Amino acid sequence: MLLKDYRFELVLPECNPSALTVNAVAELDEDIGGVLPYLNASLRGCRFYPEGNFLRFLQGGRVITLYPRKITVTGLRDREEAARVLDEVKELINQTYANRQNITPSYKKGDEVKPLQVYNLLPRTNCKKCGEPSCLAFAARLVKQEAELAACVSLAEPAGQENRQKLATLLMLT
Ligand code: SF4
Repeated sequence: MLLKDYRFELVLPECNPSALTVNAVAELDEDIGGVLPYLNASLRGCRFYPEGNFLRFLQGGRVITLYPRKITVTGLRDREEAARVLDEVKELINQTYANRQNITPSYKKGDEVKPLQVYNLLPRTNCKKCGEPSCLAFAARLVKQEAELAACVSLAEPAGQENRQKLATLLMLT
């Protein structure tokens, strides 16, 4: 077993302190840095950041980020849910570590989030209220982190809330 134990605390999301969900930050007793390239090779849809040595993936609408000595999880209801999700992640780490002889590690950076993926979640009315000439132009700036999601006024309306949440999650992978 690679990861034996961890301790965690709940924190409010920095970008949205009034959010109804909380994030968990877990400090790890062991260094899991060595397993990240194996997870990168075997975990579908994850994104590895070799320059910072961390790996990020989405699970059930949550963003989970693994660092050598830390795990963060977003979008949690309470402490009980945080403990359950962190235990699942611990299990994933330990299973991957145990199976590493059968996996070719990958140090490759994952696929970029594409402007079209973002565009498909925007209102697509080209109203220009965000200051861009079209929703696609806004999407292109969002993936380059040159624009803020809040600039799209339509997403702030009740009908846009669901996609706004999906976009916020997706853009955490950029
Ligand atoms: S404000 Fe929103 S809907 Fe209007 S053009 Fe910009 S991205 Fe599209």
